[in-house]
Amino acid sequence: MSGGSSSKEYRERRWYCHNCNYGPLSCRLDDWCPNCSHSRCGYCQEVVMTYRSGR
Ligand SMILES: [Zn+2]
Ligand SMILES: [Zn+2]
Repeated sequence: MSGGSSSKEYRERRWYCHNCNYGPLSCRLDDWCPNCSHSRCGYCQEVVMTYRSGR
């Protein structure tokens, strides 16, 4: 645990279409794959990406 840092991190869940491997797609914005119109299912790989906000 390293606290006291001024940099903030954002975690966002992304998913990859298991049908055509398209991605990463946003779990909040994309309910289906825009490439092959496949709806997100349990077979689609879900990942958590970390973003840092800094100037
Ligand atoms: Zn797809
Ligand atoms: Zn799927």
